[in-house]
Amino acid sequence: MKKDQSAPSLEQKEPSVHEDAHHAPKLPYGLFAETVRQAPIAIAITDDKANIIYINKAYTDITGYTLKESIGRNQSMLSDKRTPRNVYEELWSKLSEQIPWRGLLLNRHNDGHPYLADLTIAPILNLQGETTHYIGMHRDTTEVYQLQQQVVDQKLLIEMVVDSMPVPTILLDEKGRIVLDNQAYKKLDSDLGLREPSKMFMQILREDMGEEWERLKSKNLGFTNREVRYDRGGRHGPRWFACSGTWFSRDDASVDAFFKQSANTYLLLTLNDVTQQKKIEADIRFNALKALMAEEEKIQSLRETLLGAMHHIQGPINLLNAAKTLLERRGGERQNPALLDILEQILVAGEDSLDRLKQCIPEADGTAMRMVNLNQILHECIVLLTQRLLAAGVVIDWQPTPILPTVMGMENRLRAMFKQIIENAIDAMNQSGAQKRELRISTWPDEELVNVCIEDTGPGIPENLYVKVFEPFFSTKSGGGRHHSGMGLTMAQEVINQHLGLIRFDPTYQQGCRVHIQLQTNAQQHSGNRPYAYG
Ligand code: FAD
Repeated sequence: MKKDQSAPSLEQKEPSVHEDAHHAPKLPYGLFAETVRQAPIAIAITDDKANIIYINKAYTDITGYTLKESIGRNQSMLSDKRTPRNVYEELWSKLSEQIPWRGLLLNRHNDGHPYLADLTIAPILNLQGETTHYIGMHRDTTEVYQLQQQVVDQKLLIEMVVDSMPVPTILLDEKGRIVLDNQAYKKLDSDLGLREPSKMFMQILREDMGEEWERLKSKNLGFTNREVRYDRGGRHGPRWFACSGTWFSRDDASVDAFFKQSANTYLLLTLNDVTQQKKIEADIRFNALKALMAEEEKIQSLRETLLGAMHHIQGPINLLNAAKTLLERRGGERQNPALLDILEQILVAGEDSLDRLKQCIPEADGTAMRMVNLNQILHECIVLLTQRLLAAGVVIDWQPTPILPTVMGMENRLRAMFKQIIENAIDAMNQSGAQKRELRISTWPDEELVNVCIEDTGPGIPENLYVKVFEPFFSTKSGGGRHHSGMGLTMAQEVINQHLGLIRFDPTYQQGCRVHIQLQTNAQQHSGNRPYAYG
């Protein structure tokens, strides 16, 4: 068996420090004895059978046994008899290999109360390398253990409470790392198809709250019910979360902060899924929207009829004007003043009629500008047009960017415009009798722009008509069950102009028609610049 070189030898007459430390002064034997006697840790020296031959003062203090009560007795006198057998077996197995052993034993104090002993036993060897004695050193670690257990219990309790909460809850450290989460949050991971939803929520909330975020954090305050909309796209409807957070600081528990106290800030975040409530609200909203849209369509149709009438009256008036100018040039005033007078009267009456018609045109709905989420607007259009899409056998491929910056806009006008463009696409696919009927609607942010792309698998628009289709009363369509005034894209262009945006048809798209719309994000819109991408 290999001798443990670190174990001290009993037969060294002159107690001396280790050879490596030969520069250290030699110490008198009495000093060693006194050091052991006064050491603030329970020390016992036993023979090779664990029979006690020496104990120090701290041993009596901790065990309650005096020197007289201890000498000659086995160390097993301290055993509470509840320490499992295998612990002793392991202890003795190590000692028999002359390897020091350290572990926890349940001891019984002289007065009968149990205590937990953190014990180290080392063999003491003679010059032949045989174990002749053991030295045992232990401290009562009951209090530390109880405190540790309390911490563990409290942590478990907190975890259980947090885990049983039905609302997704996370505790994040200053760097946004999850310190604690619950089952409801873990479920959210798979529900949203995201690896770490916390990052997304933090980003949105931070952006949404701006400077308010840092202000609340620095004061250890919180926020409640901040709504976050998440569009996963495809067959998944939008999800809504009411987010509440509370910041708090805790003393840094790392050793770095042992002498110099510092604090760590944590954020307790709850993500209450309010999608159901939002759905109910959305249903109510849709019904109101339907009525509103129907009303707006009536007004729009009236506008178009009156504009059409004006357009048709304007033609003969222009001709009459030309005839009058010609007559005047040819001296009509002298030759045929009566005809010139009649022409003049007809023209005045015509202009008057035009003016009257113009006054009858109802004003376009001028809703106030507000922050608008285009994902929401487009989703509403899809829902509003569900019946038509189903009837036309059109498959919708809805690909929103989950989190889209808002734009400052007139919600109703934007909705009417997108509805018009989608209706155009349905009409085009219906009219061409296309076999494959797909409508892909995608959104994405791009620097300070929000892009919307609406693609259909219809016949597309010939390149030479890309500009013309925006002209009033121009239409490539006829029949199809709907009235086509040729004002739809004119209206779309008007709405886009009002929002300082851009609309164009993509000439590179071959599978049908692709309309690309760009609107400025809320931040960019304040600068009043148009996007540069397309002229
Ligand atoms: P035991 O019959 O004493 O022993 C249990 C197991 O240990 C058996 O498998 C046995 O074969 C083996 N064993 C016992 N003695 C030896 C030996 N000399 N050599 C090889 N194997 C052996 N125990 C405590 O409960 N609390 C203490 O504070 C404590 N302090 C100790 C301090 C020292 C310096 C030493 C050397 C031992 C100490 N012990 C202590 C262990 C103690 O001696 C007993 O082994 C233990 O208490 C179990 O006692 P037992 O009567 O139940 O079983």
